Amino acid sequence: MPLLEVRNLRTRFRTDRGTTNALDGVSFDLHEGEVLGLVGESGSGKSVTALSIMGLVPQPPGEVTADALRFDGMDLLTASKRQMRDLRGDRMAMIFQDPMRCLNPVLTIGRQITEALRRHRGMDRDAAKRRAIELLEMVGIPLAEKRLSAFPHQFSGGMRQRVMIAIALSCQPRVLIADEATTALDVTIQAQIVDLVRRLTRDTGTAVIWISHDLGLVAGLCHRVNVMYAGRIVETGPVDEVFARPGHGYTVGLMGCTPRIDRDIARLTPIEGLPPSLSEPPSLCPFLPRCAVSVDACRTAMPSMREMGQAHAAACHADLRPFWKRSAA
Ligand code: ADP
Ligand code: MG
Repeated sequence: MPLLEVRNLRTRFRTDRGTTNALDGVSFDLHEGEVLGLVGESGSGKSVTALSIMGLVPQPPGEVTADALRFDGMDLLTASKRQMRDLRGDRMAMIFQDPMRCLNPVLTIGRQITEALRRHRGMDRDAAKRRAIELLEMVGIPLAEKRLSAFPHQFSGGMRQRVMIAIALSCQPRVLIADEATTALDVTIQAQIVDLVRRLTRDTGTAVIWISHDLGLVAGLCHRVNVMYAGRIVETGPVDEVFARPGHGYTVGLMGCTPRIDRDIARLTPIEGLPPSLSEPPSLCPFLPRCAVSVDACRTAMPSMREMGQAHAAACHADLRPFWKRSAA
């Protein structure tokens, strides 16, 4: 049984300026110990996917519906506010790009870490303090014991980010959602965090949803990847498989591919044009106006998800074989 089951998740925002269909039927499973990447341009619905799962979409203006949204057998759609609050920071944790969103400016770092441990894990003061030091060391914060009495503003941005990661990991969550968590960090620290996440999943079975626009990072860290466009998953599969044999014109665009030339996928070449407005449900592939490889069928029918291989599927009419890596084609 998957740890997290997401079926036909639809999240929309109704404002004076109209309706935004931010998620238009998102479905996927997340298994224990699995690291799932979520990639796509800005506005594709990555953060809203995370927030919908965590019960953090502001309602109103948000509206979250799904055929199923289950964590560890628990129905998240009918869970009470209190149940969701208990889950967050305990069995489900999230790290955001902006650490100040989570850190309390008037409490010391030590207090903020030990608070979670005492509340969710029932540790006494000393045990919580020892664990807090351990966690800070784990995320690469030097002089951890001394730092416990510091306030967030005394830390650099990168350090604050690491503190937030330490807090998220403090209760050994079963699901960790990282939303552009290392984007602001330098590459050395980023590598350290990635290594930490890898160890965590291997040692404790924590499942991770890793949201990033850095395809190279996703390729190196994740087992599977969901490619999102305009609030939909347009391609899903094992990372190596998706990046070697992309099945969607959008994935090819994201990878900045040209036919038969292997490139460093860490470099993201912007795709021409803009994502569509999300006010009306599309009747054709939402990527069509920007697609470099569209075929006649794209102008007559919405492509449905088509199996391409072992757990690899894409919603695309085009033949993308010319874009596959030589070795895989
Ligand atoms: P991503 O994380 O992939 O960059 P998001 O998930 O943040 O994209 O956003 C998806 C869409 O939902 C965007 O069009 C965004 O403007 C819209 N959206 C997100 N949050 C809100 C909100 N609180 N109110 C209105 N629209 C929102
Ligand atoms: Mg986002």
